[in-house]
Amino acid sequence: MSRQVQLTDGESEPEQHDVGSIYCVGKNYLPHIQEMQSKIPDAPVIFLKPSSALVKPDTVLKFPMEKGVVHHEVEIVLLIGKTGRRINKEDAWSYIAGYALGVDFTLRQIQRQLKDKGLPWLLSKGFDHSAGITQFRRMPSRDEFEEKEFWLDLNDKRKQTGKVSDMIFDIPTLITFLSRTITLEKGDLIYTGTPSGVGKVEAHDEVKIGIDGVIEATFAIG
Ligand code: ZN
Repeated sequence: MSRQVQLTDGESEPEQHDVGSIYCVGKNYLPHIQEMQSKIPDAPVIFLKPSSALVKPDTVLKFPMEKGVVHHEVEIVLLIGKTGRRINKEDAWSYIAGYALGVDFTLRQIQRQLKDKGLPWLLSKGFDHSAGITQFRRMPSRDEFEEKEFWLDLNDKRKQTGKVSDMIFDIPTLITFLSRTITLEKGDLIYTGTPSGVGKVEAHDEVKIGIDGVIEATFAIG
């Protein structure tokens, strides 16, 4: 298990950051809500993954496939750089140290059963290796970041593409919303939701994720 992430400007030696809590946002892109036949939420949907779920691209991923179908969800992930509570939208950007790409691996059938029963999603979202994470890059200006496009290829076939500006709840809104209830701490991560195109992964698949010119990483499924 890896409880540290690396933050780099792409040139100097990466800084190591200890990971605290891992918050995840559900239902944050309209086409994904439609493919899941869900409704647009009035407020961000938040769930947690344990930090033991973190996994980097250098590991072969082992999933509890006996529990059902595992789906890939590529997401922009934020690294909180300083501790804060009740953060204003205008200040939110200054609390983010960097961004990475992550894959929120999900036991989809288990999640459906839990949703139907109104139960927490943890067992469908928090299993070992369920939080794929790349190296973090330093945060650019908000305008520059809004234009970032990211993608996921499964066995060299493009399955998901997303753009930061397509989030239903944008990044300052997420930081403000979360920090009104929970103190955000240095080292916390926020998985910000997945665009459409989620689908099944199987043993021996290769999941590649990227932001052109900035991040590219491959996860091998064992
Ligand atoms: Zn997700």
